[in-house]
Amino acid sequence: MSDTVAATPELEKDSTTIPVAAATGSSPSAPAAVPPPANIAKLRPEDAVGKLMEYALQLPASDLFITAGETECQVLVRSLGVLRSVTSIPTEVAKKWIAHLKVAATMDVGERRRPLDGRWVYHRPGPEKTAVDVRLSTIPTLHGEDLSMRLLDLSTAQYSLSGMGMTSAQNDELITAAANPGGLILVTGPTGSGKTATLYGLLRHLNDGMKKINTIEDPIEYSVPGIRQSQVNPLIKLNFSILLRAVLRQAPDVIMIGEIRDEETAMTAVAAANTGHLVLATIHAGAAALAPQALTGLGVTPQALAYCLRCVVSQRLARTLCPACKRAFPVDDMPSLFDDVAKYLAPGEGKALYAPVGCEACGHTGYAGRTGIFEIMPVRGAIRHAIVSGAPPRQVREAATEAGMLQFRQAALLKVAAGITSTEELFRVLPAENLVSDMLDG
Ligand SMILES: [Zn+2]
Repeated sequence: MSDTVAATPELEKDSTTIPVAAATGSSPSAPAAVPPPANIAKLRPEDAVGKLMEYALQLPASDLFITAGETECQVLVRSLGVLRSVTSIPTEVAKKWIAHLKVAATMDVGERRRPLDGRWVYHRPGPEKTAVDVRLSTIPTLHGEDLSMRLLDLSTAQYSLSGMGMTSAQNDELITAAANPGGLILVTGPTGSGKTATLYGLLRHLNDGMKKINTIEDPIEYSVPGIRQSQVNPLIKLNFSILLRAVLRQAPDVIMIGEIRDEETAMTAVAAANTGHLVLATIHAGAAALAPQALTGLGVTPQALAYCLRCVVSQRLARTLCPACKRAFPVDDMPSLFDDVAKYLAPGEGKALYAPVGCEACGHTGYAGRTGIFEIMPVRGAIRHAIVSGAPPRQVREAATEAGMLQFRQAALLKVAAGITSTEELFRVLPAENLVSDMLDG
Protein backbone atom coordinates (compact mmCIF):
# COMPACT_ATOMS: atom_id res chain seq x y z
CA MET A 1 0.00 0.00 0.00
CA SER A 2 1.24 3.46 -0.73
CA ASP A 3 -0.49 5.64 1.78
CA THR A 4 2.52 7.75 2.61
CA VAL A 5 1.76 11.43 2.18
CA ALA A 6 4.87 12.89 0.69
CA ALA A 7 6.33 16.21 1.61
CA THR A 8 4.77 19.17 -0.12
CA PRO A 9 6.65 22.42 -0.48
CA GLU A 10 5.10 25.66 0.69
CA LEU A 11 2.89 27.37 -1.80
CA GLU A 12 2.80 31.02 -2.65
CA LYS A 13 1.28 33.21 0.03
CA ASP A 14 -1.85 34.00 -2.00
CA SER A 15 -2.84 30.39 -2.57
CA THR A 16 -2.99 28.98 0.91
CA THR A 17 -6.69 29.15 1.73
CA ILE A 18 -6.65 25.37 2.02
CA PRO A 19 -4.12 23.65 4.21
CA VAL A 20 -1.91 21.60 1.95
CA ALA A 21 -0.16 18.37 2.76
CA ALA A 22 2.49 19.56 5.15
CA ALA A 23 6.03 18.42 5.00
CA THR A 24 6.56 15.58 7.43
CA GLY A 25 9.98 16.39 8.70
CA SER A 26 11.45 17.68 5.47
CA SER A 27 12.58 21.07 4.29
CA PRO A 28 10.06 23.56 2.89
CA SER A 29 12.04 24.11 -0.31
CA ALA A 30 11.48 22.12 -3.50
CA PRO A 31 12.94 18.63 -3.24
CA ALA A 32 16.37 18.10 -4.75
CA ALA A 33 16.56 15.94 -7.84
CA VAL A 34 18.00 12.50 -7.19
CA PRO A 35 19.32 10.78 -10.31
CA PRO A 36 18.57 7.06 -10.58
CA PRO A 37 21.57 4.95 -9.58
CA ALA A 38 23.72 4.07 -12.61
CA ASN A 39 25.67 0.91 -13.40
CA ILE A 40 24.39 -0.91 -10.33
CA ALA A 41 24.15 -4.24 -12.17
CA LYS A 42 27.92 -4.60 -11.71
CA LEU A 43 27.83 -4.10 -7.93
CA ARG A 44 27.61 -6.82 -5.30
CA PRO A 45 23.90 -7.55 -4.55
CA GLU A 46 24.02 -5.96 -1.08
CA ASP A 47 25.58 -2.76 -2.45
CA ALA A 48 23.17 -2.58 -5.39
CA VAL A 49 20.15 -3.11 -3.13
CA GLY A 50 21.45 -0.45 -0.74
CA LYS A 51 21.80 2.07 -3.59
CA LEU A 52 18.30 1.25 -4.84
CA MET A 53 16.79 1.61 -1.38
CA GLU A 54 18.44 5.00 -0.86
CA TYR A 55 17.23 6.18 -4.25
CA ALA A 56 13.69 5.00 -3.51
CA LEU A 57 13.60 6.55 -0.05
CA GLN A 58 14.88 9.91 -1.22
CA LEU A 59 12.24 10.25 -3.96
CA PRO A 60 10.31 9.25 -1.77
CA ALA A 61 8.83 6.07 -3.21
CA SER A 62 6.26 3.87 -1.54
CA ASP A 63 7.08 0.70 -3.48
CA LEU A 64 10.01 -0.87 -5.26
CA PHE A 65 9.52 -3.60 -7.86
CA ILE A 66 11.68 -6.07 -9.76
CA THR A 67 9.75 -7.64 -12.63
CA ALA A 68 10.97 -10.51 -14.79
CA GLY A 69 11.04 -10.19 -18.58
CA GLU A 70 12.09 -12.58 -21.33
CA THR A 71 15.69 -11.40 -21.59
CA GLU A 72 16.05 -8.87 -18.79
CA CYS A 73 14.33 -7.62 -15.65
CA GLN A 74 12.88 -4.18 -14.93
CA VAL A 75 13.44 -2.23 -11.73
CA LEU A 76 10.58 0.18 -11.02
CA VAL A 77 9.42 2.45 -8.22
CA ARG A 78 6.06 3.96 -7.35
CA SER A 79 6.46 7.58 -6.32
CA LEU A 80 3.59 9.98 -5.58
CA GLY A 81 1.28 7.16 -6.63
CA VAL A 82 2.73 6.82 -10.12
CA LEU A 83 4.93 4.01 -11.42
CA ARG A 84 8.28 4.90 -13.00
CA SER A 85 11.13 2.87 -14.41
CA VAL A 86 14.55 3.02 -12.71
CA THR A 87 16.68 0.68 -14.80
CA SER A 88 16.75 -2.71 -16.46
CA ILE A 89 19.18 -5.44 -15.44
CA PRO A 90 20.17 -8.86 -16.76
CA THR A 91 18.00 -11.71 -15.48
CA GLU A 92 20.96 -13.38 -13.76
CA VAL A 93 21.66 -10.18 -11.79
CA ALA A 94 18.01 -9.84 -10.78
CA LYS A 95 18.02 -13.42 -9.48
CA LYS A 96 21.01 -12.61 -7.26
CA TRP A 97 19.34 -9.44 -5.91
CA ILE A 98 16.10 -11.27 -5.19
CA ALA A 99 17.99 -14.10 -3.48
CA HIS A 100 19.85 -11.56 -1.34
CA LEU A 101 16.58 -9.86 -0.34
CA LYS A 102 14.87 -13.17 0.39
CA VAL A 103 17.68 -14.14 2.76
CA ALA A 104 17.42 -10.75 4.47
CA ALA A 105 13.66 -11.26 4.88
CA THR A 106 14.07 -14.91 6.00
CA MET A 107 12.12 -16.16 3.00
CA ASP A 108 12.70 -19.51 1.28
CA VAL A 109 15.40 -18.79 -1.33
CA GLY A 110 14.78 -22.11 -3.10
CA GLU A 111 11.04 -21.53 -3.59
CA ARG A 112 10.41 -19.71 -6.88
CA ARG A 113 7.18 -21.37 -7.98
CA ARG A 114 4.92 -20.34 -5.09
CA PRO A 115 4.09 -16.83 -3.81
CA LEU A 116 6.00 -15.85 -0.68
CA ASP A 117 5.76 -13.04 1.88
CA GLY A 118 8.46 -11.62 4.08
CA ARG A 119 9.50 -8.70 6.20
CA TRP A 120 12.85 -6.94 6.41
CA VAL A 121 14.02 -3.97 8.45
CA TYR A 122 16.45 -1.89 6.41
CA HIS A 123 18.79 0.36 8.37
CA ARG A 124 19.80 3.45 6.44
CA PRO A 125 23.47 4.41 6.50
CA GLY A 126 24.36 7.51 8.47
CA PRO A 127 24.56 8.49 12.12
CA GLU A 128 20.80 8.18 12.78
CA LYS A 129 20.49 4.63 11.42
CA THR A 130 16.84 5.26 10.54
CA ALA A 131 14.89 2.02 10.25
CA VAL A 132 12.67 1.34 7.25
CA ASP A 133 10.19 -1.48 7.49
CA VAL A 134 9.99 -3.35 4.18
CA ARG A 135 7.21 -5.82 3.28
CA LEU A 136 8.30 -8.16 0.51
CA SER A 137 6.25 -10.49 -1.61
CA THR A 138 7.04 -12.62 -4.64
CA ILE A 139 4.89 -14.25 -7.28
CA PRO A 140 5.76 -16.56 -10.15
CA THR A 141 5.14 -14.97 -13.58
CA LEU A 142 5.53 -16.06 -17.19
CA HIS A 143 9.25 -15.21 -17.32
CA GLY A 144 10.26 -15.77 -13.72
CA GLU A 145 9.84 -14.43 -10.23
CA ASP A 146 8.50 -10.90 -9.61
CA LEU A 147 9.39 -9.12 -6.37
CA SER A 148 7.36 -6.34 -4.80
CA MET A 149 8.59 -4.30 -1.82
CA ARG A 150 6.49 -1.88 0.22
CA LEU A 151 8.59 0.70 1.98
CA LEU A 152 7.29 1.94 5.32
CA ASP A 153 9.62 4.71 6.38
CA LEU A 154 9.15 4.83 10.14
CA SER A 155 10.73 8.30 10.30
CA THR A 156 7.95 9.87 8.22
CA ALA A 157 5.14 8.57 10.40
CA GLN A 158 4.55 11.88 12.18
CA TYR A 159 1.13 12.36 10.68
CA SER A 160 -1.00 15.27 11.81
CA LEU A 161 -4.58 15.83 10.72
CA SER A 162 -3.94 19.46 9.84
CA GLY A 163 -1.41 18.43 7.19
CA MET A 164 -3.61 16.00 5.25
CA GLY A 165 -5.24 18.46 2.88
CA MET A 166 -8.68 18.92 4.44
CA THR A 167 -10.30 22.35 4.37
CA SER A 168 -10.39 23.89 7.83
CA ALA A 169 -14.15 23.26 7.99
CA GLN A 170 -13.61 19.58 7.14
CA ASN A 171 -10.85 19.33 9.73
CA ASP A 172 -13.16 20.84 12.37
CA GLU A 173 -15.94 18.36 11.56
CA LEU A 174 -13.59 15.41 11.98
CA ILE A 175 -12.11 16.72 15.23
CA THR A 176 -15.65 17.27 16.58
CA ALA A 177 -16.62 13.70 15.68
CA ALA A 178 -13.48 12.35 17.34
CA ALA A 179 -14.31 14.25 20.53
CA ASN A 180 -17.20 11.85 21.16
CA PRO A 181 -16.39 9.38 23.93
CA GLY A 182 -18.04 6.60 21.90
CA GLY A 183 -19.15 5.95 18.37
CA LEU A 184 -17.87 4.95 14.98
CA ILE A 185 -15.72 6.93 12.52
CA LEU A 186 -15.28 5.30 9.12
CA VAL A 187 -12.50 6.05 6.64
CA THR A 188 -12.98 4.89 3.05
CA GLY A 189 -11.05 5.05 -0.19
CA PRO A 190 -9.15 2.77 -2.55
CA THR A 191 -5.73 1.32 -1.75
CA GLY A 192 -3.15 4.08 -1.78
CA SER A 193 -5.61 6.88 -1.03
CA GLY A 194 -4.10 7.87 2.31
CA LYS A 195 -6.59 6.10 4.62
CA THR A 196 -3.82 4.85 6.87
CA ALA A 197 -2.36 8.34 7.15
CA THR A 198 -5.77 9.70 8.20
CA LEU A 199 -6.23 6.95 10.80
CA TYR A 200 -2.77 7.56 12.25
CA GLY A 201 -3.47 11.30 12.21
CA LEU A 202 -6.65 10.67 14.22
CA LEU A 203 -4.83 8.34 16.61
CA ARG A 204 -2.11 10.89 17.11
CA HIS A 205 -4.74 13.53 17.83
CA LEU A 206 -6.50 11.24 20.35
CA ASN A 207 -3.30 9.96 21.99
CA ASP A 208 -3.19 12.44 24.87
CA GLY A 209 -2.00 9.97 27.50
CA MET A 210 -5.45 9.84 29.12
CA LYS A 211 -7.02 7.21 26.86
CA LYS A 212 -6.22 3.56 26.36
CA ILE A 213 -5.87 3.05 22.64
CA ASN A 214 -5.69 -0.37 20.96
CA THR A 215 -5.22 -1.04 17.27
CA ILE A 216 -5.77 -4.11 15.10
CA GLU A 217 -3.79 -3.80 11.90
CA ASP A 218 -2.84 -5.71 8.78
CA PRO A 219 0.05 -5.03 8.88
CA ILE A 220 1.24 -2.62 11.60
CA GLU A 221 2.63 0.13 9.42
CA TYR A 222 4.03 2.51 12.00
CA SER A 223 4.84 2.04 15.61
CA VAL A 224 3.24 4.75 17.73
CA PRO A 225 4.52 5.21 21.29
CA GLY A 226 1.77 4.86 23.90
CA ILE A 227 -0.59 2.91 21.65
CA ARG A 228 -1.17 -0.85 21.99
CA GLN A 229 -0.80 -2.25 18.50
CA SER A 230 -1.74 -5.78 17.40
CA GLN A 231 -1.49 -7.39 14.02
CA VAL A 232 -3.65 -10.06 12.38
CA ASN A 233 -1.82 -13.24 11.43
CA PRO A 234 -3.50 -15.44 8.82
CA LEU A 235 -0.88 -18.18 9.33
CA ILE A 236 -2.31 -18.94 12.78
CA LYS A 237 -5.87 -17.94 11.78
CA LEU A 238 -5.71 -14.80 13.94
CA ASN A 239 -8.16 -12.55 12.09
CA PHE A 240 -9.75 -9.16 12.73
CA SER A 241 -12.81 -10.51 14.54
CA ILE A 242 -10.87 -12.76 16.95
CA LEU A 243 -8.42 -9.96 17.77
CA LEU A 244 -11.25 -7.45 18.15
CA ARG A 245 -13.05 -9.59 20.73
CA ALA A 246 -9.77 -10.05 22.62
CA VAL A 247 -8.97 -6.34 22.46
CA LEU A 248 -12.40 -5.50 23.90
CA ARG A 249 -11.49 -7.51 27.00
CA GLN A 250 -8.50 -5.19 27.42
CA ALA A 251 -10.87 -2.29 28.25
CA PRO A 252 -9.79 0.21 25.58
CA ASP A 253 -11.27 3.70 25.20
CA VAL A 254 -10.37 3.89 21.52
CA ILE A 255 -10.05 1.01 19.05
CA MET A 256 -8.65 1.33 15.54
CA ILE A 257 -9.58 -1.50 13.17
CA GLY A 258 -7.45 -1.66 10.04
CA GLU A 259 -10.33 -2.90 7.92
CA ILE A 260 -13.88 -4.11 8.41
CA ARG A 261 -14.40 -6.74 5.74
CA ASP A 262 -16.43 -9.53 7.35
CA GLU A 263 -19.77 -9.81 9.09
CA GLU A 264 -18.46 -10.71 12.51
CA THR A 265 -15.99 -7.81 12.67
CA ALA A 266 -18.71 -5.43 11.45
CA MET A 267 -21.20 -6.55 14.11
CA THR A 268 -18.62 -6.51 16.93
CA ALA A 269 -17.28 -3.10 15.87
CA VAL A 270 -20.77 -1.55 15.85
CA ALA A 271 -21.65 -3.19 19.18
CA ALA A 272 -18.44 -1.77 20.67
CA ALA A 273 -19.17 1.67 19.24
CA ASN A 274 -22.67 1.51 20.74
CA THR A 275 -21.35 0.67 24.19
CA GLY A 276 -19.03 3.57 24.83
CA HIS A 277 -15.93 2.82 22.76
CA LEU A 278 -14.69 5.16 20.08
CA VAL A 279 -14.06 2.90 17.07
CA LEU A 280 -12.05 4.05 14.04
CA ALA A 281 -12.09 1.78 11.02
CA THR A 282 -11.70 1.62 7.28
CA ILE A 283 -14.28 -0.02 5.08
CA HIS A 284 -14.41 -0.48 1.33
CA ALA A 285 -16.70 2.16 -0.22
CA GLY A 286 -16.27 4.49 -3.20
CA ALA A 287 -17.68 7.66 -1.62
CA ALA A 288 -18.80 8.86 1.83
CA ALA A 289 -22.49 8.29 1.13
CA LEU A 290 -21.79 4.66 0.20
CA ALA A 291 -20.20 3.71 3.53
CA PRO A 292 -23.47 3.10 5.48
CA GLN A 293 -24.62 0.64 2.81
CA ALA A 294 -21.25 -1.13 2.93
CA LEU A 295 -21.80 -1.81 6.65
CA THR A 296 -25.47 -2.77 6.43
CA GLY A 297 -24.38 -5.10 3.62
CA LEU A 298 -22.34 -6.92 6.27
CA GLY A 299 -25.41 -7.53 8.41
CA VAL A 300 -25.42 -4.45 10.66
CA THR A 301 -28.95 -3.08 11.10
CA PRO A 302 -29.51 0.50 9.89
CA GLN A 303 -30.75 1.40 13.38
CA ALA A 304 -27.63 0.13 15.18
CA LEU A 305 -25.43 1.87 12.61
CA ALA A 306 -27.29 5.19 12.68
CA TYR A 307 -27.06 5.24 16.46
CA CYS A 308 -23.26 4.99 16.59
CA LEU A 309 -21.98 6.43 13.28
CA ARG A 310 -20.42 9.86 13.93
CA CYS A 311 -18.59 10.65 10.71
CA VAL A 312 -17.51 9.17 7.39
CA VAL A 313 -14.27 10.24 5.72
CA SER A 314 -13.79 9.36 2.07
CA GLN A 315 -10.58 10.26 0.35
CA ARG A 316 -8.25 10.22 -2.64
CA LEU A 317 -4.66 11.41 -3.02
CA ALA A 318 -3.72 13.90 -5.71
CA ARG A 319 -0.24 15.01 -6.67
CA THR A 320 0.64 18.63 -5.91
CA LEU A 321 2.20 20.79 -8.60
CA CYS A 322 5.91 21.56 -8.33
CA PRO A 323 6.01 25.20 -7.15
CA ALA A 324 9.31 25.77 -8.95
CA CYS A 325 7.98 25.12 -12.45
CA LYS A 326 4.16 25.13 -12.52
CA ARG A 327 2.75 27.32 -15.26
CA ALA A 328 -0.32 29.55 -14.93
CA PHE A 329 -2.79 30.11 -17.73
CA PRO A 330 -6.07 32.01 -17.76
CA VAL A 331 -9.27 30.15 -17.08
CA ASP A 332 -11.01 31.75 -20.13
CA ASP A 333 -11.54 28.48 -21.97
CA MET A 334 -13.57 27.04 -19.12
CA PRO A 335 -15.40 30.06 -17.67
CA SER A 336 -17.86 27.97 -15.66
CA LEU A 337 -15.28 25.57 -14.21
CA PHE A 338 -15.42 27.02 -10.71
CA ASP A 339 -19.14 27.90 -10.57
CA ASP A 340 -19.76 24.95 -8.30
CA VAL A 341 -17.34 26.19 -5.66
CA ALA A 342 -17.61 29.96 -6.23
CA LYS A 343 -18.81 30.63 -2.68
CA TYR A 344 -15.76 28.91 -1.18
CA LEU A 345 -13.12 30.73 -3.23
CA ALA A 346 -10.82 33.26 -1.62
CA PRO A 347 -10.37 36.66 -3.31
CA GLY A 348 -8.26 36.26 -6.45
CA GLU A 349 -8.74 32.51 -6.68
CA GLY A 350 -10.34 30.84 -9.68
CA LYS A 351 -8.87 33.28 -12.20
CA ALA A 352 -6.07 31.01 -13.34
CA LEU A 353 -5.32 27.35 -13.80
CA TYR A 354 -1.92 25.78 -13.31
CA ALA A 355 -0.33 23.04 -15.35
CA PRO A 356 2.70 20.82 -14.67
CA VAL A 357 5.88 21.61 -16.62
CA GLY A 358 8.80 19.70 -15.14
CA CYS A 359 12.19 20.90 -13.94
CA GLU A 360 15.31 19.67 -12.16
CA ALA A 361 13.69 20.08 -8.76
CA CYS A 362 10.79 17.72 -9.46
CA GLY A 363 12.66 15.14 -11.51
CA HIS A 364 10.91 16.49 -14.63
CA THR A 365 7.52 15.22 -13.49
CA GLY A 366 5.92 18.61 -12.76
CA TYR A 367 4.72 17.33 -9.39
CA ALA A 368 6.38 17.56 -6.00
CA GLY A 369 4.16 15.99 -3.34
CA ARG A 370 0.68 14.78 -2.58
CA THR A 371 -2.41 16.08 -0.86
CA GLY A 372 -5.67 14.49 0.20
CA ILE A 373 -9.00 15.26 -1.45
CA PHE A 374 -11.77 14.66 1.06
CA GLU A 375 -15.46 14.12 1.53
CA ILE A 376 -16.17 14.48 5.24
CA MET A 377 -19.73 13.53 6.17
CA PRO A 378 -20.67 14.22 9.79
CA VAL A 379 -23.69 12.08 10.68
CA ARG A 380 -26.54 14.04 12.22
CA GLY A 381 -30.00 15.39 11.43
CA ALA A 382 -31.33 14.41 8.02
CA ILE A 383 -28.28 12.24 7.28
CA ARG A 384 -28.96 10.16 10.38
CA HIS A 385 -32.65 9.93 9.45
CA ALA A 386 -31.74 8.71 5.97
CA ILE A 387 -29.42 6.04 7.39
CA VAL A 388 -31.85 4.84 10.07
CA SER A 389 -34.58 4.41 7.47
CA GLY A 390 -32.25 2.41 5.22
CA ALA A 391 -32.44 5.04 2.47
CA PRO A 392 -30.36 4.42 -0.69
CA PRO A 393 -26.92 6.10 -0.93
CA ARG A 394 -28.25 8.79 -3.27
CA GLN A 395 -30.58 10.05 -0.54
CA VAL A 396 -27.79 9.94 2.04
CA ARG A 397 -25.66 12.02 -0.30
CA GLU A 398 -28.47 14.50 -0.95
CA ALA A 399 -28.93 14.97 2.79
CA ALA A 400 -25.18 15.42 3.22
CA THR A 401 -24.92 17.94 0.37
CA GLU A 402 -27.90 19.82 1.80
CA ALA A 403 -26.04 19.95 5.11
CA GLY A 404 -23.01 21.48 3.38
CA MET A 405 -20.74 18.49 2.71
CA LEU A 406 -18.16 19.20 0.01
CA GLN A 407 -18.25 16.47 -2.62
CA PHE A 408 -15.02 15.11 -4.12
CA ARG A 409 -15.38 17.20 -7.25
CA GLN A 410 -15.83 20.39 -5.27
CA ALA A 411 -12.99 19.62 -2.86
CA ALA A 412 -10.72 18.93 -5.85
CA LEU A 413 -11.81 22.07 -7.72
CA LEU A 414 -10.85 24.16 -4.69
CA LYS A 415 -7.33 22.73 -4.93
CA VAL A 416 -7.22 23.50 -8.66
CA ALA A 417 -8.43 27.05 -8.01
CA ALA A 418 -5.75 27.50 -5.37
CA GLY A 419 -3.02 26.31 -7.76
CA ILE A 420 -2.24 23.29 -5.58
CA THR A 421 -2.99 20.73 -8.25
CA SER A 422 -3.91 20.54 -11.94
CA THR A 423 -7.13 19.62 -13.73
CA GLU A 424 -5.34 16.61 -15.27
CA GLU A 425 -4.59 15.31 -11.81
CA LEU A 426 -8.19 15.88 -10.76
CA PHE A 427 -9.42 13.68 -13.61
CA ARG A 428 -6.76 11.06 -12.88
CA VAL A 429 -7.64 10.49 -9.24
CA LEU A 430 -11.35 11.20 -8.95
CA PRO A 431 -14.03 8.73 -9.93
CA ALA A 432 -15.88 10.09 -12.98
CA GLU A 433 -19.19 11.74 -12.06
CA ASN A 434 -21.23 9.17 -13.99
CA LEU A 435 -19.40 6.39 -12.15
CA VAL A 436 -20.31 7.92 -8.79
CA SER A 437 -23.91 8.24 -9.95
CA ASP A 438 -23.97 4.57 -10.91
CA MET A 439 -22.52 3.56 -7.55
CA LEU A 440 -25.06 5.69 -5.68
CA ASP A 441 -27.91 4.15 -7.60
CA GLY A 442 -26.56 0.64 -7.26
ZN1 LIG B 1 9.42 21.31 -11.13
